[in-house]
Formats: sequence, structure tokens, C-alpha cells
Amino acid sequence: MKFRSYMDIALNEARAAAHRSEVPVGAVIIHAGKVIGSAGNRTRELNDPTAHAEMLAIRAACAALGQERLTGCDLYVTLEPCPMCAAAISNARIGRLYYGASDPKSGGVGQGPRIFSHAQCHHVPEIYSDIDATACEALLKSFFTQRRGS
Ligand SMILES: [Zn+2]
Repeated sequence: MKFRSYMDIALNEARAAAHRSEVPVGAVIIHAGKVIGSAGNRTRELNDPTAHAEMLAIRAACAALGQERLTGCDLYVTLEPCPMCAAAISNARIGRLYYGASDPKSGGVGQGPRIFSHAQCHHVPEIYSDIDATACEALLKSFFTQRRGS
């Protein structure tokens, strides 16, 4: 089967988040070729520091499947997951993680705490980084540039 990236859907969620004045990060979860959850950041709207795109997408996907695990599912997210989301990805047993931009400030996968390389991490997904990284980064950069300007 030919590889089809779903990062375009995650990028659309990130753009929608920017329009809501949220940090533009978007995520989508794929099960058997179908979208079962997609979300952008909503931490400000929901007054919830855990309302990261990945967390909301995981909740939606679990609700859609009626189960607490997302075994065999793919998660696409525009930014490297933070430690909290990386732990949630592990707990959800997500099969493959595709992320866009690296996050030197808050990332917890390729740097910082590197959650998936800890002995206490019971499930490690296949990890693919730098997927459409330029587009993912550009969204974040323009968002923060605009915020600083206002
Ligand atoms: Zn996060």
C-alpha cells in the first residue's frame, strides 16, 4: 500500500486553532484509513492546560472506537509532542507517531525527557519526525510573530 500522509488534516486543525487565538498545533488519528479523531489546541478556550491537540484527538478517537486503547492507529501532529502527550500516546498504545516540527522548548520525544526511551515507558510507537516540518514550523512562527507585534 502506498504511504499517504494525513498531515494536511493536522495542518488544517492547526490553522483553525490559530484563528481561535490558540497556539497552532493540530492532530489527527487514523484507524484503518479513516479519520477517527482530529483536534487543534483548545487550552485557552477550555481553560484546560491538558487540552493539547493530541490529548483532544486521543479522547475523540477513543470515544469513536468505544475503547481506551488505540492499538494500530496512526497519530499525526504538527509539532513534536510534549512529555504529557507522549505519555498519553504510550498509554493509548498508538501504533505510529508522525510529527512535523521539532520543539526544542517543550518537546518530549526527540529531546528533553525523551519519554519513549525510558524503561518505564511500556509502549513505544514507531516514530517518524520532520513530516511537512517546514509548513508546521511556518504556522507557529507567524503566529508568535503576530502575537509579539500586537
Ligand atoms: Zn502536549
